[in-house]
Amino acid sequence: MVLFVTGRCHRSCWYCPLSSERKGTDTVYANEHPVDVPAQLIEEAENMSALGTGITGGEPLLCLDKVTGYCRQLKDHFGTGHHIHLYTAKAPSETELLQMKGLVDEIRLHPPRECWNTILDTEYIRSAKRAREMGYAIGIEVPALPGLELLIPALPYLDFLNINELEWGDTNAFEMRSRGYEPADDLHNAIHGAREWADELCRHEKVHWCSSAFKDSVQLRERLKRIAENTARPFDEITPDGTIVYGVLEPSVHQKELCIQFCEQVLEPGSFETRGDHLEMAWWLLEKNADELPGKKYVIERYPNDGMIVEVTPL
Ligand code: SF4
Repeated sequence: MVLFVTGRCHRSCWYCPLSSERKGTDTVYANEHPVDVPAQLIEEAENMSALGTGITGGEPLLCLDKVTGYCRQLKDHFGTGHHIHLYTAKAPSETELLQMKGLVDEIRLHPPRECWNTILDTEYIRSAKRAREMGYAIGIEVPALPGLELLIPALPYLDFLNINELEWGDTNAFEMRSRGYEPADDLHNAIHGAREWADELCRHEKVHWCSSAFKDSVQLRERLKRIAENTARPFDEITPDGTIVYGVLEPSVHQKELCIQFCEQVLEPGSFETRGDHLEMAWWLLEKNADELPGKKYVIERYPNDGMIVEVTPL
């Protein structure tokens, strides 16, 4: 599960991928769902049979009490084996590390580009040493930018170094353009040339490359599939991408009862349900019985568990 704890951050990286809806706010999201009460966090983790959680932001250390509270809740509910990693652009102090001990298993540091050429003299390396001595798994996770090889001297102090392919986004497009960066093609957000910047660093065995395509198409799809398998209704069709597809019938107020009666008589129990002023059912049943069912009819494809609507196709 991805747990976004705050959109606030002490930094203003030019490549920041945060959306304008999340930037600067204190709304918490578990995957794509806003979390108002702590129970929703466990519900979302249950929905996807989460084996672990990645805590992200913004800067999670700006709300450390909130972070440790959530971690405690997750560990209490799922057991200590529920793996938790935390991203931070700060170098956690000894006090912060002590506070997270036993709750966070792994820390992923994001040192800013400006300090890569003096990385061994930075607080990040001192923090990495401390974290390691205290039993954390510790690594660096940065976007692919020119100059990545400057991080090679840091490798002996780390368990891993992850590089994320630099990505074009709505909020960083202006900065990308002003630096002459362009998307590699029309279909993906990856920036042309980003893989080459990482070539030298990627020769080291502790270094992992995460492509934009892998993040989008593999990680997201696998997460959606797990959520869909746990939350889809009997009549929802789960697609290979992990989205769900179902049919919607919107009868007029006068025709609603008639439609419900028809469904109860003709369709199998569990193959439809009434939701407010409309009915939802297997899309193929709606298509098959379209002539008998008066009203507006369409097929919806969306992320599971009332997630984002991907496509609406009129019938
Ligand atoms: S540290 Fe992360 S969240 Fe903060 S500005 Fe930089 S990229 Fe954005």
